[in-house]
Amino acid sequence: MSSPARKIKLEAKPNWVSTRNPCKACAPMGATLVMRGIEGGVPFLHGSQGCATYMRRYLISHFREPMDIATSGFSEASTIFGGGANLRQGLQNVTSQYKPGLIGIATTCLTETIGEDMNLLLHEYRAKGGQAENAPELVHVATPSYRGTHVDGFNDAVRAVVEQMAAEGALPSAYTQSFLNIFPGMVSAEDLRFLKEVADDFGIPATVFPDYSETLDGPSMLKYKKIPEGGTPLLALHATPAARASIELGRTLRQKKTAASFLQERFLVPAKRIGLPVGVEETDVFFNTMEKVTGAPMPEKYAAQRGRLIDAYVDGHKYVFGKRAIVFGDEDMVVGMTSLLAEIGAQPILCASGGKSGALAKSIAEVTTHLKEAPLVREGVDFMTMAEEAEMKELKPDFMIGSSKGAKFARALGVPLIRVGFPIHDRFGGQRILHLGYRGAQQLFDQIINTLLELKQDSSPIGYSYL
Ligand code: SF4
Repeated sequence: MSSPARKIKLEAKPNWVSTRNPCKACAPMGATLVMRGIEGGVPFLHGSQGCATYMRRYLISHFREPMDIATSGFSEASTIFGGGANLRQGLQNVTSQYKPGLIGIATTCLTETIGEDMNLLLHEYRAKGGQAENAPELVHVATPSYRGTHVDGFNDAVRAVVEQMAAEGALPSAYTQSFLNIFPGMVSAEDLRFLKEVADDFGIPATVFPDYSETLDGPSMLKYKKIPEGGTPLLALHATPAARASIELGRTLRQKKTAASFLQERFLVPAKRIGLPVGVEETDVFFNTMEKVTGAPMPEKYAAQRGRLIDAYVDGHKYVFGKRAIVFGDEDMVVGMTSLLAEIGAQPILCASGGKSGALAKSIAEVTTHLKEAPLVREGVDFMTMAEEAEMKELKPDFMIGSSKGAKFARALGVPLIRVGFPIHDRFGGQRILHLGYRGAQQLFDQIINTLLELKQDSSPIGYSYL
């Protein structure tokens, strides 16, 4: 009898190197998401049209919103002689058609491989009138996909924008008062709204960057707007060096040069790096950090949410205790979900990601100190490798938790998949999943328990009315 994982296994010991069903997407895609989170921003790919088409489709499928991504549309000639002319023409077209406040340019694999000199090209473009009055600001980030995942592209774009836009000297009056920078990482639109709500409740203005909570999950419009409303204001991006502190979410960022580390080194803005606030413990750390940087106590409504969550943990513990879970996806989401599972009594058995930060194992160890059995941690892996690992080690999970890209893997193992993170292509509302805070943990906990109850009910010959 073959085991479930064998159904999707190609070879026991391949003598070749390849990615088979990747647990990651491409780097410029993360960058385009960041550019979409800027007020008046238009993402622009310097490269082939096919890259932009793929990314548009991928992002629209998750967010269910229009996602314009401009491209310089490389041809065979531009691949050989350079794409400077295409870039200039493309920037002019976008400027006249969209009238953007900013064009965020990401370079694709092809452009990076031919060694396009972006600094020179943009310098020449600006010198020839690209800096005229009302001309959009231009920022560039290098995102060769063979060097990183969509999350790397995302984080590199956040740093590039902050680095290129941070202004020294006089600031608009709105930014002379005390405010915070919050760099949330790649979270859902609902998570971004949560972070803004928390800052409001603490009574402190905050620059949340990027902010695609409205641009990619906004209200229905009577009249189509080429650039949707919302996004981090350009002035706020110029003002990041004047912040009281930067809070950056993501334990696996530790080896990276980030926006917060740049602002700390260059402008002495204190940087606080903490994990994604998923689950009680990580959310406690987040609220403690907010209390420290604002000097204000956590608002009462969050204490009430925390209390309700703890009560639910007590009520639901018997259903989830000892259940074995495979967690996969973007590294910081994997760390957050692992922390949540560990605190509710479930046993994470395999924590895996296509990302290769080099910090995943340490981060998982930090959030699972009280577990008796440490989970296997694998970074830089694809779904086929995960399936082989699950089979070889006889992991026998009860459920999986991660993006919709693991659906085939879950089906092969015959276990339910709880969809979180990015992308979610086979369910509705991925952009509105709340992962963060006590309320986010409450929703995730309810979903985990109900998934397990449903499984029990469906697989029982008599069914149950009371579980
Ligand atoms: S060629 Fe590179 S940038 Fe373009 S879609 Fe493929 S991985 Fe992404």
